[in-house]
Amino acid sequence: MAYTYDTENIFAKILRGEIPNDTVLETEHSLAFNDIRPQAPIHVLVIPRGAYVNYDDFASNASDAEIVDYTRAIAKVCEMKGVEADGFRMISNAGEHGVQEVPHLHVHILGGRGLGRMLE
Ligand code: C5P
Repeated sequence: MAYTYDTENIFAKILRGEIPNDTVLETEHSLAFNDIRPQAPIHVLVIPRGAYVNYDDFASNASDAEIVDYTRAIAKVCEMKGVEADGFRMISNAGEHGVQEVPHLHVHILGGRGLGRMLE
């Protein structure tokens, strides 16, 4: 479906350098930073630099270069944080039912402790 991007959302402001962030990784098309309200010892958000509301918008409209960069940035953050050995969780909330707070695509990477079962 078609999405309308809110250029005043907080991650757009972070990408424009208008508000600070605790950067973990910068790549050509992606940015990763520590979540300001961490839900686990490791809680990193990975966002594309492009204006995409959610995963569907991104996968449908981003260039191949952006998609490759973003996919690898997520993997790189996992490697940098060393979460692969003990395991981790990736979450991307979308829309009202997904309780997405910030309308710019972001993947949460959570790790550093047992996260419990999410789905039964
Ligand atoms: O998936 P959802 O949209 O609910 O998550 C947004 C996340 O962005 C929250 O975990 C919140 O703590 C984080 N956030 C942040 N820095 C901001 C504003 C929100 O890390 N300046």
